[in-house]
Amino acid sequence: MPLVHLSDMLKHASHHHYAVGAFGVVSLDFLEGVLQAAEACRSPVVLNLIESHFAYYDFATMMPAVLSAASKVSVPVAVNFDHGSSLERAEAAIRAGCNSVMVDTSALRFSDNLWQTREIVAMAHSYEVTVEGELGYVPGLEGLSAEHHPSDLTYTSALEAAGFVERTGVDCLAVSIGTIHGRMKGIPKLDYARLAKLRDSTLIPLVIHGGSGLSDDQYRKLVANGAAKINFFTALTDAAERSIKEYFSSNRKYGYPQVVAGVRNAVRAETLRCLQICGAGGRAAEVLAQCRPWKATSNSEGF
Ligand SMILES: [Zn+2]
Repeated sequence: MPLVHLSDMLKHASHHHYAVGAFGVVSLDFLEGVLQAAEACRSPVVLNLIESHFAYYDFATMMPAVLSAASKVSVPVAVNFDHGSSLERAEAAIRAGCNSVMVDTSALRFSDNLWQTREIVAMAHSYEVTVEGELGYVPGLEGLSAEHHPSDLTYTSALEAAGFVERTGVDCLAVSIGTIHGRMKGIPKLDYARLAKLRDSTLIPLVIHGGSGLSDDQYRKLVANGAAKINFFTALTDAAERSIKEYFSSNRKYGYPQVVAGVRNAVRAETLRCLQICGAGGRAAEVLAQCRPWKATSNSEGF
């Protein structure tokens, strides 16, 4: 307890018109901060292990800590391998204990994205693992500024999305409706009508990447128009950075452990804010009662 199938968790969110927060975890202080926040507001939560971050921590060392921490909380948790680079890496992540995978094939042509996603679905579903596909392109890199865009945003087409979902069998779909990864310059213009159309045409839970930096009103409109999972990382890393800066500008009485504790508290506060805006607070008991529990196993060979 209490890992649950992400597909079940997201169906519950979709059905009850709220969104689950998925939070990028890069260290133990992030892991503890996110889980403490979910406990505090009785919310289901997703821990995101983002492959591009594996340059900064050892995934094989982190996964046992993630699974151990998740097993100790009383709210439902899912562990997602996010923005994977290949089917092989996704399979290794599943063996290490992730119960959801997202392999990022969204920059490919439609037909190539569809073909590769089908193969990932076949592999992951053989383990009963949830698969998130992505159609359209959300530019940028998690935790960096907007000028790091590899290319322009491509909006998701509702017509293409319906066929993509039907032909791939993905459990949830990341869509591009105006958000970007990282820190955005200016005010993001979000296409809520497109999001609602995507919800009605695909009939599966929709995911928003690049969730940091929006206004409370924008989050509420995303949820009202069909977002069932919103990914956050930049908001957490900015909160961590502010906490470190404040610590060093105000006093240097203590040492590194106090800095780490400050980061954990900052991540907890920001996660709590995000979960509450998404409407996920107080939903833990219902999700636990209605979602299939996941049996965790871990073998980190391959990473
Ligand atoms: Zn993303």
